[in-house]
Amino acid sequence: MADSIEGRVRNGVDAFLRWLPRWEIGTSRARTKVCRLCLGSPVATAAGFDHEVPHTVQHALLSRMRVIIDEAVEEYTARNLPLVSRELSRAAQPEPAGYKPDEGLALEFQGLEIDPEPEPGQPYLFTLAELAEADRVVPPARAEPSDPAPSSLADAPASYSEEAKAALRTELELADDHARQVGTAVCLALVEHRTRISDAIDRLVEPQIDELLAELSRALENPRSR
Ligand SMILES: [Zn+2]
Repeated sequence: MADSIEGRVRNGVDAFLRWLPRWEIGTSRARTKVCRLCLGSPVATAAGFDHEVPHTVQHALLSRMRVIIDEAVEEYTARNLPLVSRELSRAAQPEPAGYKPDEGLALEFQGLEIDPEPEPGQPYLFTLAELAEADRVVPPARAEPSDPAPSSLADAPASYSEEAKAALRTELELADDHARQVGTAVCLALVEHRTRISDAIDRLVEPQIDELLAELSRALENPRSR
């Protein structure tokens, strides 16, 4: 596993570094929502990110690492955990066809926010997220899932025997263990790329932050010149 994770992390970092030159500092209003992917993430620590690295930059790398972990867990599940695989494919059907703006993107753009943060007072016609939402046909059976979390798999169908439920629970624990192992492997692999990442941040991100701060302090010193 370790080898393939290292290769995937290397590719993910490569893609992130190819994307980074396109990053432009926004008007940097703070996000209103806490990002569940990035907040307190050990992957961010492994990458060497500190709180001065803008969230959009951190998120772009972390979401790539997330995809690597998810794919590795899916592969492991498909190979080794027949009960969980069966429950997952049952839960996944029918997958409604529809507009999915965040699928099929080039590696550089995977996992990025599909819409910019809204600007107050600025009109817009629609966001891609709204389009995708409007296009989603929710089958009646899935309209109101009482517990959409994967742990709901543990509540196996009533037709399952106690024995089968216990087997399913064991498989779920194995899947959790594997996810933790892969997460650790991703972090360890990422540490190897810290220098490349911090060099790119110094070169492409820091100057933009410095420029923005300089602009702000000029504006504060000369409020009338703007
Ligand atoms: Zn984030």
